Amino acid sequence: MITCRDVDHFLDEYLEGTLDPQRKAIFELHLKLCPPCVTYLTGYRKSTELARAACEHGHGEGDELPDELLQAVLAASVPPPPDPAAEDGTPPPAKPVR
Ligand SMILES: [Zn+2]
Repeated sequence: MITCRDVDHFLDEYLEGTLDPQRKAIFELHLKLCPPCVTYLTGYRKSTELARAACEHGHGEGDELPDELLQAVLAASVPPPPDPAAEDGTPPPAKPVR
């Protein structure tokens, strides 16, 4: 039986389809017994597909990527803007009066 760490190790090969049949069978057996690994695999595959789709987008392929998904990916990769209040150590003023 393989461990969760092995699953992590074989994940790339599994998704690429290059995992040899014997390991693949063991891998899938582990997934049947280990829901957390399934969750991990699903999330991993989704992010891989998103990244791939984003790459292909510029080449006229992968037009199926919804804009909101693309935005979500972009938003996740951009660091949050610095909080101006953190710079001088004073709390931000109440809403500006207009
Ligand atoms: Zn596992």
